[in-house]
Amino acid sequence: MPLRTCRRLSYILYGVSCALALVGIFLKNGNSTLSLWMVGAGLLVFAAAFLVGIIFYRCPLCKRLLPIKERDIEVCPHCKGKLKKSNG
Ligand SMILES: [Zn+2]
Repeated sequence: MPLRTCRRLSYILYGVSCALALVGIFLKNGNSTLSLWMVGAGLLVFAAAFLVGIIFYRCPLCKRLLPIKERDIEVCPHCKGKLKKSNG
């Protein structure tokens, strides 16, 4: 998976998980079962986002994790290898 796609997917999943959890919390007074499911689904999506980050957001050269907060990384902070722009 290209690095940029991976980072975007991870961010989208984090957003979805927050939205699910928030909706679940707001539903708490109305439908507590549905609320629990929403919060549970939010946690699952959050875990998925985390996994996508740690499985796919790696340097293609040394396979170590890249700092996900940094935008448009061009050089790997571990092996100083150049990360292709087309790859990320
Ligand atoms: Zn590297």
